[in-house]
This record gives sequence, structure tokens and C-alpha cells, in this order.
Amino acid sequence: MLFDKLLGLFSLDMGIDLGTANTLVCVRGEGIVLSEPSVVAVKRGTNQVLLNGNAVGLVAKEMWGKTPANIVAIRPLKDGVIADFDITEAMLGYFIRKVHNRKWGVKPRVVISIPSGITAVEKRAVTNSAERAGARKVYLIEEPMAAGIGVGLPVQEPTANMIVDIGGGTTEVAVISLAGIVTSESIRVAGDEMDDAVKHYIKRTYNLLIGDQTAERIKMQIGSAHPLEEELSMEVKGVDSIAGLPRRAVINSEEIRDALREPVELIINAVKVTLEKTPPELAGDLVDNGMILCGGGGLLRGLDKVLMEETGIPCTLAADPLTVVAKGTAEILEQIDLLAKILASSEDQI
Ligand code: ADP
Ligand code: MG
Repeated sequence: MLFDKLLGLFSLDMGIDLGTANTLVCVRGEGIVLSEPSVVAVKRGTNQVLLNGNAVGLVAKEMWGKTPANIVAIRPLKDGVIADFDITEAMLGYFIRKVHNRKWGVKPRVVISIPSGITAVEKRAVTNSAERAGARKVYLIEEPMAAGIGVGLPVQEPTANMIVDIGGGTTEVAVISLAGIVTSESIRVAGDEMDDAVKHYIKRTYNLLIGDQTAERIKMQIGSAHPLEEELSMEVKGVDSIAGLPRRAVINSEEIRDALREPVELIINAVKVTLEKTPPELAGDLVDNGMILCGGGGLLRGLDKVLMEETGIPCTLAADPLTVVAKGTAEILEQIDLLAKILASSEDQI
């Protein structure tokens, strides 16, 4: 429609990667303008957002694990489902306004990528939240599709490509062809489960209690899925689970690899299951095209190697795995015809 096209010239159209760990916002023509943790601080026992609605994102994550008794920091999408609609809405609204306030006027069109496991009711809630936060039109697209576009895969071609996106709460595996998702798997095992595995290991082995942030730091600093050329070690501080006093311990990468074995195996299994469900013609394409690994969890050292060894299919880590989904949403804003094709091939779009 001509009118809509004209409006588009003036509006600040946005692409949003609504992730379980991080939310990224891009603006058409500008790239990524915001990247913050998907965290909201609320008053305990309520869904009342603190600090006049400003305790969202980085501000809220800093409160994580350090909050006084009457405040809790919540991740509303933690397990890939929307745990609390009101809090999700507050968060989405905050991010949209933060970006949109920079410009006058016309309400934006917003493309939002969502975890592929969320229900129709949750999709409706995301759409409504974005509309209430000032969007003129909201388009939802599935995360693996956005990732595929973000890494520059020829998603519209009649050839299969595979995306393995490991986020905080969910791992999404999908085979894409002709602008549609042919087969997919979404499991609630990703970065958070890795952190939990590290935490439990340190407690079991060293009687040392550590927080979520420390567990995540250990995973990033010395975690791996495949033996390293040079094994690493680091010092960890926590609380002795018996004496109740703070103390330190030195741990190495072989131990952490052992601790991470279970979540890593579950991820490998999700990839294998997806491959088994893929029609033979398309599975054949994957032998050449391979799979693209993305999402922050994809950065775990040696995960690409293990996936390749276990499946026999080439695996490439995306160049900037944390931003590919957001870049994909921005790309879609530029190509409205591509958006139409994607929406047409996703039957349950609301
Ligand atoms: P989501 O899309 O669910 O918001 P992201 O793609 O932003 O998730 O990835 C967040 C996850 O990636 C977190 O669990 C984080 O710990 C993990 N992560 C980030 N960097 C690394 C790294 N270098 N090694 C291992 N995991 C990482
Ligand atoms: Mg993601």
C-alpha cells in the first residue's frame, strides 16, 4: 500500500531478537542499537517492575544474585516459554521505547524473532505487548529463520541448510529450505543448563557453593566440549557448603568438560534427531552445506568439532554468533517480499 510505504520512509522500523538471555534491537538502516540482558527486577511476590519501570536489562542484571530480600531479578523467558506475560510486556515495552524515544513521530513496524517452541497464546501476548508499547505493525518470525537470514544463507533456494542456535534457555535446531522451516527441534537445554551443570559439579566435587554468574564465567573462561590443545585452569571463589565460610579452589578445563558432558550430549542428540527427521533429498544437501552454529552457547570451545565428529556433517561457527538473529530481523525489514514468503510458509502465524 502506498500510504504504508510512505509511512515506512519516516518510521523507525525495528527488528528485535527477543532472546531468553539477551534482547537485541536493530533499526532499519542503522544496525544493532541496543543489546541488553532479558532481565527485569521486580518487587518480590509481585510483578511490579522497580525504579519506575527502569529496572530492566543491564540495570536489572547487575542486581542478579545480589538483590535485597524484597527484590528479585527475573528472566521472563528463561526456559524458552513466557513465564510471566506482564513482565515480558514491561521488558519489551522498555526496550522499544528506549530505542524509539530517540526519534519523533511515526509508530514503527517491528519484526520480532521468538523461540520456535512458544505457543500461539504466547505469540499473541508478544504481539499485543509490542503494540501496546507503540508498534504500528508487528511481525513474528521464528528464531532459526532469522538466524539463517542473519548469516546470509540462501534461505529462499530449494536447497537445505541447517541452523543450530544455542541460546540461554533453548537450543533450536532447524532445517530451512524455500523460505520455510522443514523440520525442527527445540529443547530446553542450552547455556543455562551448562551453568547449572558447572554449579552442581563444583558443589559435588569441592563442597563449594557458587552463584549463577560465577558458573557462567567458568563456562566461558575454561569450558569446552572437545579436548583442548592446551588445557586451562582458573581460581574460583565461593562458600564452603559445610563450614559456611568463603574460600577458593582451583579447577581445570578437563573437569569442566566432564561437568558439561550431559548438556552437550543432549544438544548433539537434538541435532541427530532433526537430521533423522529430514527428508532424504534435503538431508543429502546438508552433507555439502553443513550446519551453522550460532547463539552464545555456540561459542563453547570445541562444540563445532564435536558436532562434526558425531554427525559427520560439516559445522561452521557463525562469525558473530550472538548477533546473527538480530541482524536477520534487520535484513527482513529491508526485504518486505522475503517477509511475505516467510509468513506464508509459517502456517500458524497469527
Ligand atoms: P538467547 O538467544 O537465548 O538470548 P544468546 O544467544 O544471547 O541467548 O546466548 C546466551 C548464552 O550464551 C548464555 O547462556 C551465555 O552464557 C552463553 N555464552 C556467551 N558467551 C559464551 C562463551 N564464550 N562460551 C560459552 N557460552 C557462552
Ligand atoms: Mg537467541
